[in-house]
Parts: sequence; structure tokens; C-alpha cells
Amino acid sequence: MTIPSMRFAPHFCKRASPLILVLLVLLCSLAGIAQAQSSAAGQNSLTAQAQSPNQNTQEIKAYSLPRELYAKAVKYSRAQYILYFAGFAWGVIVLLLVLAWRLAPKYRDWAERATKVRFLQAVIFAPILLLTIAVLELPVDIYGHWLSRNYGISIEGWTSWIGDWAKNQGLSFILGIFLVWILYAIIRRSPRHWWLYFWLAALPILFFVIFLSPTVIDPMFNRFEPLQKTDPQLVTALEEVVHRAGMNIPPDRMFLMKASEKTNAVDAYVTGIGSSKRVVVWDTTIQKMTVPETMFVFGHEMGHYVLNHVYKGLVFGALLALVLLYVGFRAVLWTLGRRSSGWGIRSVDDWASLPVLLLWLTILGFFASPIGDSFSRHIEHQADQYGLEVTHGLFPNSKQVAAQAFEILGEVDLADPNPNPFIKVWLFSHPPLGERVEFALTYDPWAEGKEPEFVKNR
Ligand SMILES: [Zn+2]
Repeated sequence: MTIPSMRFAPHFCKRASPLILVLLVLLCSLAGIAQAQSSAAGQNSLTAQAQSPNQNTQEIKAYSLPRELYAKAVKYSRAQYILYFAGFAWGVIVLLLVLAWRLAPKYRDWAERATKVRFLQAVIFAPILLLTIAVLELPVDIYGHWLSRNYGISIEGWTSWIGDWAKNQGLSFILGIFLVWILYAIIRRSPRHWWLYFWLAALPILFFVIFLSPTVIDPMFNRFEPLQKTDPQLVTALEEVVHRAGMNIPPDRMFLMKASEKTNAVDAYVTGIGSSKRVVVWDTTIQKMTVPETMFVFGHEMGHYVLNHVYKGLVFGALLALVLLYVGFRAVLWTLGRRSSGWGIRSVDDWASLPVLLLWLTILGFFASPIGDSFSRHIEHQADQYGLEVTHGLFPNSKQVAAQAFEILGEVDLADPNPNPFIKVWLFSHPPLGERVEFALTYDPWAEGKEPEFVKNR
């Protein structure tokens, strides 16, 4: 289940599970989509704690990793890139197999034989089809978790991981039933404009899911506590950051996530909309970073919060999804015009056409990812700038503190120190750490007597 949230740490947009199919593409194209529960563990000797980078007091002049760690980060990143592209290719193959084996027409027949009520047909058809696809894609997910454990990022055991996978499927069935039911009801009424009406219908559902995610969905995967309860001193420090900007983020919107139960990675994020909007700091971040470093990370998240990045990401994602749905609509018609009888599909308004739509959305979503990522890198850069502005003067040497926070992020999460331009454009939701450190060290409007862009001098 991918929930939009604006994070501090770089991550890839995971392959959109077809579930969220349509809602979907959008979700993934949105900037900071993350799967907090996806990371996991490691018995590796190079665990983060063992190397506690906090001790490093040397002045940072540029992003750098110790040689051993550098080689490890490069290896891990390459493996993830291969997994990402191979995972996409396998996702396409899976949908082609589902079509070639005529599984969807078989499931449609079961559903239609069982009941005449369209909604109940969706209740039968959607979960079976989604489960089939998820099971066929399972090897890729298993390899991803194995990789993360092997490199000492994830510490989540397989039993817990399987439990999370099952919960994800449950959520995707619930959402899938409603979306698929609505989609086909609309296709039957408006064969030529369903892409538009479905988009309109999906938007409020999407908003609702995002609204619910911090309180209903996220707690299914991780434990949360009010930060005030676990770390009142940190809340006091963070309130200082908030007041520095003349903003208002009440302490009851600050949460601690017990990420350490599943991962060594550090992170923080902003999620939710309206009354569910909140800042979440992982406990791993608090353990591995000093208070000023955590204040900078919080300042970055505060940038997302104050600059309304969740909303902006949603609007951007929604517009992109509209384009993809329209192109998908044309592509499905074109495909069915040539192949439908061979695949046992009667027409577009047949339940069995769903894999064709999923196939096209998967392909289009993949090729749209550089668009979503460049939007994401832009707002992540803004958040970094906001973090630098809001912590300026709060403690000594705020630029070095920010650079140090990025160093820890890179060392603990094994971020690629130097991605090639293609990888950056295609996969990077955040600017590469080298660029973030360089910006942190050189951004200094105060020295030039200029007014900072977001946080005005007071
Ligand atoms: Zn961010």
C-alpha cells in the first residue's frame, strides 16, 4: 500500500501494486510516496549502530563515505536499480501471462455465475484477480526484502514480513473492489468518457485514503506514539524550530514511529491532510542523530508541512493520472480492437478487460516516472532549503549540522553516493546526497545580506 508522504530520506517509488491500479498511478507519481513498512533488517556486521557516525567531528567539505562503506553503498544501489527495472519487466510479463492464460475471463465467469448483482461480482472478481497478480509478483518482493536484510538495512523477520504482505493484500482487495466496481459501472454508462468520469470519482476516494492513512493504515504496519510522551525534551527543541519560523505545529501533531522494530534506516516524514496532517520522526533517527541534526531533519519536514507539499503533490499526481488515464483509454481500445477475442475478452465493459488496462497503466506509469521524480526532487530541494533557513542561528554552525545529517543518512541507509544521470532522472525522488550536502554547505543568503526565501529574518 503506497501512501503519499514527504520524506527526508531518498527512496524509490515502489512498483505501484496494480491494486491501486488506477488510483494509483497517481499515487506513485506523487512525490514522496513511501512504504514505511517496506524496509528491513540486517545481521550484517556493518550495521549502523556499530559505526555510529555521530562521533565524527571532522569538518565536512563534501559528501563522502569511508571506502568500505562507499563500495557497499554502490553495490547495494546497483542491486536495487536492477531489481527496479527487472521488477517492472516482470510486472509486464505477469500481466501478459494473465492475459494469455485467459485467467480474467475465467474469474469473470465465476463471478457472473455466482450472482447477477454487479457489486457482488466485483467482490468476487477483483480480489481473485489482484491476488493472482500479487502472487505471481511475489518473487520480486521476496528478493527485495532479502536484499535489504542482506545489506543490514531491514531487520524485519520473514514472519512479520509475510504478515505485512498479507495486510497489504487485504487493503488492496478492499480498495480494489470499490475502484473496479466504480470503474466498470462508469465504463458501461460512458464508453467514450469513462477515463474522465472515473478520474473524477477516484479523486475523493484518494483524498479519503490519504486522510485515513496516518490513523488507520499506518498503525497496521508500525507502532506510533505521541512524541510528547516519548521525548518531551526533543519536542521542546522542535517547538523552537517551529517558533523560529513564526509557524504553528502543535505538539499533538508530532509523532514518533518505532521504526527500529523493523529497520536500521533513518527517516522522518509528513503525512495526512486536514486534521490528520502530522510530522512523524522515526525512533532510529533520534537514536542515531544529535538533537541539532534531528532539528534540521524536522526543519526539512516542516518545509513540506508549511509549503503544503502533500497537497501540491496530490494535485500534480492527479493531473498526471488524468493524462495517463486518457492515454490508457486510447491504448486499451486499440489493444482490444486487435486482440480481444484471442484473450477471451468481450469488450471494454467486460470485467475481463481489467488486465489490459492494468498492463497499460503499468507501462505508462513506468515511463511517466521521470516526470513525477523531477517534480519530487524540486519540492525535496525546497524542503532542504527550508530546513537550512529555519535552523539558521538556532545553534552554532547550522550548515555543518545539516551536512552531518546527510552524511548519517547516506551511511546508515547506504544511499548511492554518485548515481549516473539516467538513474537520477528516472528513479531519484530526492536530489542525490552529494548535491544536498553541497547545497547545505554553500547556501548562505545571510552572508550576502539577502532575505531568505521562505523563513524571513526576524
Ligand atoms: Zn522530504
